[in-house]
Amino acid sequence: MLNDKIVLVTGAGRGIGRAIARAAAEAGALVIINYNSSWVEALSLVEELNKKGLRAESYKADVSSEQDVQSMFKFVRERFGRLDVLVNNAGVMSSTLIQMTSAEDLDKVMNVNCRGSFLCLRAAAKMMSRQKDGRIINMTSIVGRTGNRGQVAYSASKAFIIGMTLSAAEELGPSGIRVNAIAPGFIETDMTKGLKEEVRKERIADTPLGRAGTPEDVAAVALFLMSDQSGFINGQVIGVDGGQRM
Ligand code: NAP
Repeated sequence: MLNDKIVLVTGAGRGIGRAIARAAAEAGALVIINYNSSWVEALSLVEELNKKGLRAESYKADVSSEQDVQSMFKFVRERFGRLDVLVNNAGVMSSTLIQMTSAEDLDKVMNVNCRGSFLCLRAAAKMMSRQKDGRIINMTSIVGRTGNRGQVAYSASKAFIIGMTLSAAEELGPSGIRVNAIAPGFIETDMTKGLKEEVRKERIADTPLGRAGTPEDVAAVALFLMSDQSGFINGQVIGVDGGQRM
């Protein structure tokens, strides 16, 4: 399905990014597994995939650092000569009420989720425009559309991703680049494992399918958006949330 495609997944050492990287490699892509702090997890994924005869490499970069992002895309350009898919997955969550949210909390979330996603999108757009081909998948969240009590910074950062996706789809479409976003609901990963049990139960109760999502649920949609099967899908925000109502 993705034979010989070059796919870069940010924040791919853990969670949803890890599942997306694995799915892309299993579909025949050469996957670049970006990580920032989870080097053990990233290297173990590369090893796991390579052992199966699948192609994967890792690259350390903090997506909020312009220099790191430039170096990562230089690496991709010099080593592979092209980039077919960027999955802008790296993200951090904050859960604090408005009056408990410091300017520093806001900066941290905005730096990774907004600045980081933008820096990667911009670098990918440059490479893909030359190729006249490419796919960019941005990871937003259900709360980017609905908002959520106690998540003013996080939900605002995810609303940014939606605006960025819609504008980029408009601007880059004529260059053969499709840009879409995935909006997961409640997915079981490290990001959500710290939630209080009552909040967890509430989220599941709000989900008509009656369960939390898995990283693989999200990876299946990412794979579809990477593939030619979604060839006429552009500028969409696709919910992977079991029908959750916030
Ligand atoms: P996770 O398990 O906490 O993983 C977060 C990933 O982001 C890690 O791989 C981490 O890499 C990476 N990351 C964080 N800061 C980074 C930075 N500065 N540079 C590079 N990578 C960085 O979270 P997840 O649940 O898989 O979330 C993945 C994405 O899905 C996020 O954008 C999140 O907002 C979104 N999402 C998640 C849910 C959910 O319920 N889990 C719902 C909606 C949306 P390192 O460990 O290497 O630092």
